[in-house]
Amino acid sequence: MSRGYFELTDQPVLSRNILDRDERLRLDPVYVRDSWPKARVVVVDESGRTPVDWQVDPDREFRETDAAAWDAAAGRGGQVRTRAGTDLAPEPPAEAVLLGESEGVPYWAVRGGPAWTAADDPGEWADLRAAGAFLDPLGSGLLTCAVSTLNWHDRARFCAVDGTRTRPHNAGWARICENGHEEYPRTDPAVICLVHDGADRVLLARQPVWPVGRYSVLAGFVESGESLEACVHREIAEEVGLDVTDVRYLGSQAWPFPRSLMVGFHAIADPDALLVPQEGEIADALWITRDQLRAALARGDWGAPEGRDAHERTDPVVRLPGRVSIARTMLDAWAAVGL
Ligand SMILES: [Zn+2]
Repeated sequence: MSRGYFELTDQPVLSRNILDRDERLRLDPVYVRDSWPKARVVVVDESGRTPVDWQVDPDREFRETDAAAWDAAAGRGGQVRTRAGTDLAPEPPAEAVLLGESEGVPYWAVRGGPAWTAADDPGEWADLRAAGAFLDPLGSGLLTCAVSTLNWHDRARFCAVDGTRTRPHNAGWARICENGHEEYPRTDPAVICLVHDGADRVLLARQPVWPVGRYSVLAGFVESGESLEACVHREIAEEVGLDVTDVRYLGSQAWPFPRSLMVGFHAIADPDALLVPQEGEIADALWITRDQLRAALARGDWGAPEGRDAHERTDPVVRLPGRVSIARTMLDAWAAVGL
């Protein structure tokens, strides 16, 4: 076992899916037709938002983009509010996607807006970034699958081979063009890597477009023909000028903005080596200790208010990603080593 080895302590929140994705059901026209009368449908708007149901702190004014308000609801098990299929259409619409089954209930997804909501529906429309960490495993799985698959449909309307129009088939799990070329939902892999020194320090970095104080671990898209491990070495070298060793897999989760898969690793680098932040990509990179990371995690994430301690800090001012991101799952696990 290598120096500084650790594993995730929690499952990444968007990977908590309990939906049964059964390919045989998508290919069975009798199942597709006969299951519609008992289907529940996830309606997702063009911004990736869907109605969700959760308990809000009654003393706090709610805004759906207010991560602190979502924090107040943490642990209360928010749910995605679905519609009965037969409320929307007598049979599955051509553009609908069969997500899968849970406890005998077939779940589908369609594009739609607030006009599709029942008049008395109290759901608040929210997207995965805002609500993902606070949804129950079914809701999180439904919305992650729905958003990623619908995003792919939006961008696959013409055949990449001959440019003719495509139409959905296999209950939304493929598109086929006028000349019979098929395409399947696409995912773009990206690596995300927690770089540490094998002992007590971790490397954080911030992008130029982020507010001052917002930091995370490093990430980048996998290039064609490249292995995940090679991508880790290349991205860390490009972004901060460090050579890493001991690259180890941690876990993964879908990140459908619009269609990524984040593949998490950790790796070791020399904290005394010169950091060379990449022009235009990295505004700042710094090493902090495990105690400093724990203090930053305790302060709250990117969306949390400044709080009373804002003028009393002696350690670097660091805000970390929210619980919906795998970066946070990775940082939580590294911070817990030795506890
Ligand atoms: Zn074609």
